[in-house]
Amino acid sequence: MTCDEAKLNINAMIDNEIPEEAVQPTLSHMESCYRCRQDYIELLRLQKRMKGLKIPEPPKEWYENFHRNIFRRASGWIGRLFFIGSYILLLSFAFFRFFTSDEPSVFLKLIIGGIIFGFLVLLGVTFADRFQESKSDKYKGVMK
Ligand SMILES: [Zn+2]
Repeated sequence: MTCDEAKLNINAMIDNEIPEEAVQPTLSHMESCYRCRQDYIELLRLQKRMKGLKIPEPPKEWYENFHRNIFRRASGWIGRLFFIGSYILLLSFAFFRFFTSDEPSVFLKLIIGGIIFGFLVLLGVTFADRFQESKSDKYKGVMK
C-alpha cells in the first residue's frame, strides 16, 4: 500500500466509512509508516475537538420564512418576467426587422429561419421532458 492509498483509507477510517477488508492493510501500513501514523493521530485529535463543538444552526422557521417570503418570491418572478420578456421582445423585433427588410437574400432568411425553428423545437422538447420528469420527481418538496 502506498502512502496516498493509505491516506484515503485513513480519512475513510476517521469517518467510519472504510470497507472491512481495507482496515488491516491500512493498520499494517501505519505500523511501518511514521508519516501516515502521524496523519492518523492528527485526524483523530481534530475529530475529537470537532465533536465537542456545537455549530449553531438557525431554527427551521428561518428556512421556511426565507422560502415562503411572498415579497421575495414575487420580486424574483417580476425580475424574471421583465428580463426574459424584454429579451424575447428585443429578439422578436430584430427577427421581424430581419425578415421584413429586403436586404438579406431569401437564402439567408431561410437559414436563419431554420436556426430559429430548430431552437424552438429543442426548447419545446426540453420543457416537455422537464415537465414529464417533474411528475415523477421523488425529491419534490425537499428543501435545498
Ligand atoms: Zn505512509
